Amino acid sequence: MPVKAFGGGIDYNLQMMTFETYRREVTTLTTFVTHFCNDKHSDLPREARTIGIRYGTETAEPIETTLCDGCAETVAYGIARLQGCPYDEKPKCRKCSDPCYERPMWKRVAAIMRYSGMKLGLTKVRKKIRFWSGA
Ligand SMILES: [Zn+2]
Repeated sequence: MPVKAFGGGIDYNLQMMTFETYRREVTTLTTFVTHFCNDKHSDLPREARTIGIRYGTETAEPIETTLCDGCAETVAYGIARLQGCPYDEKPKCRKCSDPCYERPMWKRVAAIMRYSGMKLGLTKVRKKIRFWSGA
């Protein structure tokens, strides 16, 4: 159902994020950070990680991946931000009334998403990284 954006008094006519959207975004985040870690952190100790998918009362099969400690932290941060983002059809992040992208950690996430997006072929993934690129 349409909701009014909190803060700022700007009505974007947004919808709450669905579980399917959440699941898709977590999968994209994990895939992209894993790609980045494979490329950039092959010299660091990397471990098997299980990325749980839980949003509200719903859960899905967790994602198994391999990441260094720093990238595992990045994924955990991204997931925390995603759980904090109430928007399904995202506003441009720069216009968001609660712009998480300004925080330094978010910039790290955005940089990783852009890097992997480019490596994986931007035309196919532009839509996918909309939420994460801060654009
Ligand atoms: Zn890494």
